[in-house]
Amino acid sequence: MINVKPADMILRDLAPRQGYQRLVEAKDHATGLHALVSIHSLHRGPAAGGCRMFDYATFDDAVQDVQRLSLGMTYKNAAADLPLGGGKSVIIGDPKRHKTPELMRAFGRLIDHLGGSYYTAEDVGISPQDMAYVAQTTPYVAGLEGGEFASGDPSPVTARGVFLCLKQTLLHALGSDDLNNKTVAIQGLGHVGMHLATLLHGAGADLIVSDINSEATQHAAQKLGALVVLPQEIFHQDADVFAPCAMGGILSTDVIAGLKARFVVGAANNQLAHETCGQGLHDAGVLYAPDYIVNGGGIINVAMEILKISDPAYRENRVNGLAKTLDQVFTAATKAGEPPHIVADRLIKQRLA
Ligand code: NAD
Repeated sequence: MINVKPADMILRDLAPRQGYQRLVEAKDHATGLHALVSIHSLHRGPAAGGCRMFDYATFDDAVQDVQRLSLGMTYKNAAADLPLGGGKSVIIGDPKRHKTPELMRAFGRLIDHLGGSYYTAEDVGISPQDMAYVAQTTPYVAGLEGGEFASGDPSPVTARGVFLCLKQTLLHALGSDDLNNKTVAIQGLGHVGMHLATLLHGAGADLIVSDINSEATQHAAQKLGALVVLPQEIFHQDADVFAPCAMGGILSTDVIAGLKARFVVGAANNQLAHETCGQGLHDAGVLYAPDYIVNGGGIINVAMEILKISDPAYRENRVNGLAKTLDQVFTAATKAGEPPHIVADRLIKQRLA
């Protein structure tokens, strides 16, 4: 282990997985910071991806998670046609107990040390206020609430991207994207799910919703006429579309077996519980819109802050582009008789070549 700038912080380069650019570990004894930054790809530009704070059971869990997430960001950024590579960072610790302004400033010094090869933003366990502390020690940060190019909450933009992709899915499969007489089952009415529900309701769709937070479901029932079901029942509803907007890994073999919807289009990251579940959806006759294309609206919003772009046309063009990319994937998948997630991965690899 070597002592390098920033002073007092111990930094070391670890051996990343094959094909990854860099993996850095940082320890700062004064603040208790223990963090990892994984840069998967710099091919399209500086790496961008959020910072997650989580109390990992083992150091290796954190190493695996940060690398997996950084790969996902390369794909998501390329799918959104952004001039950004893929990266991610994790802070090891319980955000409720271990997070302090000093710790976040120390994290900012780590990011600054990487000299702009990686831009950070919020992820699970990290708030805009935390990023404001990070911004006191580095300019390589986005997701801020104040400042000339501050992008604020990305959720409405993510929801709009999901909405457009959902319509594109119907158009591809049914020849019409009319949402009247269509039912969408939404799992999770958080930042993205509630915006999505509002857009769908406005376009004439019927809604079935579930959330573990009854305030959110009550709101959807009262304001949007949504039918509320128990969380474990959302998969089995007679809906045209299932929109996962809660957590990842929910498309398991069991869930697919009970799914009545013919289309899956939602915001959640890493929806497939296993690689084989994409094939499982395909075999079950369900058209799956790959998550990292559908939910790219958030990173488009963040990218504008990183790239210092204020023209709303940039956002609109890129978000519309998500639906175009999805259509490209569906068209190629239908032609080849392959599952869309396989075709999407191939398309992104071509964009990265
Ligand atoms: P959020 O935390 O605001 O909302 C998640 C919602 O899901 C909450 O209301 C929560 O109560 C609910 N939930 C949790 N477990 C549930 C369960 N078992 N059944 C039903 N509901 C449950 O998160 P968000 O920002 O809305 O993001 C939703 C998903 O989309 C996440 O997977 C996130 O990683 C992904 N995503 C979000 C953005 C963004 O811009 N916010 C961008 C890309 C991807």
